[in-house]
Amino acid sequence: MIETGDKVEKFALVTGGSRGIGRAICIRLAEDGYRVIINYVSNDREAEITLEGVRAAGSDGELLKFDVADAGACEAAVEGWKASHPGQHISVLVNNAGIRRDNLLLWMQPEEWHKVLSTNLDSFYNLTRLLIKDMFSSRWGRIVNVASLSGLKGLPGQTNYSAAKAGLIGATKALAQELARKKITVNAVAPGFIHSDMTEDLKVDELKKMVPAGRFGEPSEVAELVAFLASDRAAYITGEVININGGLYS
Ligand code: NAP
Repeated sequence: MIETGDKVEKFALVTGGSRGIGRAICIRLAEDGYRVIINYVSNDREAEITLEGVRAAGSDGELLKFDVADAGACEAAVEGWKASHPGQHISVLVNNAGIRRDNLLLWMQPEEWHKVLSTNLDSFYNLTRLLIKDMFSSRWGRIVNVASLSGLKGLPGQTNYSAAKAGLIGATKALAQELARKKITVNAVAPGFIHSDMTEDLKVDELKKMVPAGRFGEPSEVAELVAFLASDRAAYITGEVININGGLYS
């Protein structure tokens, strides 16, 4: 957070902000007055649409294209951002970028395992460690990790994804204890089935019968929870994993 005259500017970095849940989080944080740094890896047009949404919500933002699975790319992006924003820092980090590469373990190729682990879990390490020093100095920060039902329950066909999200949950609980005294909270959200590009190949009509709420969730519903965890109202919640799954699993 910085003071410009009497105006306080707060920066939030959302990984995977170009589409789906990430886009909804960007727009929701913009409604709360954050300037939103929208990360994505390839989809320029979709990222522009998110930026338009952020501006329509009354704030402003910027695009920061890099691969969260690539430690060097994360470092270059964060250092570049800092160099172009002297005296400012990122006080909210939402580790949301993620991919699926489903397969039965018997058939799973090394690339499917490693790509899912690096994008969903290494990304947490690559980025979070670069931002916590500034949160430390300002004695305020929020880290929200987007995990999954799959990381809690384990889902067949997703040993790679379940392992990555379970790892993210463990890291959330450990880091929360490292940072709590500095007024930095670290939490995870664990969505069930949410409408997005990631779930467009699923058989919605069959799967929604398994959900007590009788439907898939919306990205905006996850964004509402993330915005709460990023706010001052959630100052005493840390190391938690909050399910958002229509009653599917708890
Ligand atoms: P999505 O619609 O497929 O969007 C994925 C986002 O991640 C896109 O913005 C994509 O950028 C970005 N991304 C992918 N790989 C990246 C990389 N290497 N570096 C930077 N950005 C990258 O997915 P979603 O459904 O919104 O999922 C968001 C998060 O929620 C993920 O972590 C996912 O595992 C989790 N989740 C989703 C569901 C669900 O039902 N949808 C359920 C549980 C958990 P590009 O546009 O540039 O490709």
